[in-house]
Amino acid sequence: MKEKGFIMAQHSSPVRVRFAPSPTGKLHIGGARTAIFNWAFARATGGSFVLRIEDTDPTRSTDENIRIIVDAMRWLQLDWDEGPEVGGAYGPYRQTERMDTYQKALQQLIDCGAVYRCFCSKEQLDEEREKMQAEQGGYSGYNRACRHLSEQEVQAHLDAGDPFVWRLKVPDNHPAIEFDDAVYGHMSFPADVMDDMILVRSDGTPTYNFAVVCDDINMQITHVIRGDDHLSNTPRQILIYEALGKTPPVFAHLSMILGSDGKKLSKRHGATSVEEYRDKGYLPDAMVNFLALLGWSLDGETTLISRDVLCKAFDLARITKKDAIFDEVKLDWMNGAYIRELTAQQWARLARPWIEKAGATPEFFALDAWAEKTFALIGQRLVRFEEIPDKLAFMFWGSTLKALDDASFKKVLAKADSRAKDVLVACEAILADTSIPWECNVMQDAVKQLCDTMQLKPKAVFQPLRVAIAGNMVSPPLFESMELMKREDCVARVHYVASLL
Ligand code: GLU
Repeated sequence: MKEKGFIMAQHSSPVRVRFAPSPTGKLHIGGARTAIFNWAFARATGGSFVLRIEDTDPTRSTDENIRIIVDAMRWLQLDWDEGPEVGGAYGPYRQTERMDTYQKALQQLIDCGAVYRCFCSKEQLDEEREKMQAEQGGYSGYNRACRHLSEQEVQAHLDAGDPFVWRLKVPDNHPAIEFDDAVYGHMSFPADVMDDMILVRSDGTPTYNFAVVCDDINMQITHVIRGDDHLSNTPRQILIYEALGKTPPVFAHLSMILGSDGKKLSKRHGATSVEEYRDKGYLPDAMVNFLALLGWSLDGETTLISRDVLCKAFDLARITKKDAIFDEVKLDWMNGAYIRELTAQQWARLARPWIEKAGATPEFFALDAWAEKTFALIGQRLVRFEEIPDKLAFMFWGSTLKALDDASFKKVLAKADSRAKDVLVACEAILADTSIPWECNVMQDAVKQLCDTMQLKPKAVFQPLRVAIAGNMVSPPLFESMELMKREDCVARVHYVASLL
């Protein structure tokens, strides 16, 4: 539908959305948020989610970045219905493999006179820009010099082999370009300041705006959900849709993500790529939940939202245009909440690489449900998986106490009035007694009896033992940990520490 330059996009066909990263770097948090919104919208509407790689900038796009982005998408479990690795009916899904489609669209524009060749050199354009800046105090785009070349002039340039680009002929007296953004509402851009933008460069490659529009048309995209850094491109793209005689999709532009200091999220704020968050040990479910709430809400209050709910309830109407704040404290809280919700089996699978980093060898994992039991040790108070190696390392030191914390040694073992040596000698005898089963409750009761026999407070017994086993007065629950270790290793450590005193 088109009236007075105001294009209303209406779609009754099934939703088709796309996430279209340029592989010029890793998957940024902002990009991941855009991907999640598109994915959730497709799932909530029973539509299709397309992953398209926008790699037309040869100087900055790399295969390595494509791999990193695809890996990050897989890690977040944002499954795409069409795109790299899965294919689809509208492929290929990499812009550099779609050159023929841009050529075809260009030909259509040439045939209907909507584009023209521009032979202006970079020097000419620079000079012109400087002149206009000096004269008018502002540059308002290309001066359209080549728009009015005669056929003979064009031919002369071609005969001379002059390089040229293709520019869009913005129609004269075009009314304001208007559209209803699903987030920002009604938008209006004056058309008379629209540049005769380049669609195809002198090397034949399409510019970003041209390639995006061609792809979105050919892939039958119904809704373009993307960052509002693209908002100023939208009127330009609408002009291209018009020139190609197509109805634009619905646009939904997402507000910026700011750090908690109110400034645009950047490296200064810490990790900015999905990869970095993965490597710090955030759970993909927590990340998806957290990022989904950067500009969208379920009901304004619910914070823990599962994928299932997100995929049912997501809608564009609840996206806010207010800038979103990336609150790392909230992310940490949320990640902890997701960790606590894991089953021991899920924990064992997800935490395994981190438990290995702590030093666990395959022989530990071979023990029945061994890894699952580590959940009870540390799962309840963990914020990120990256804390696991530090917390569990002592369990894998074998018979040697590889680190003995100085402060713990002084405070618990080496105090003048401490009976730590006697305690440890007695503990060693209990731990070494194979008639006492190596089970945490049994061991704990046995050691507790020392309190009576030695007339000591529980702390005076348990803390020396803890330091002797874990090397630190702070550790996961002691007897539960010991149960997952070898008896002879524990005995050896206690013997060693007692010998230091
Ligand atoms: N490739 C663009 C980018 O990474 C996105 C284009 C779009 O969504 O229209 O910013």
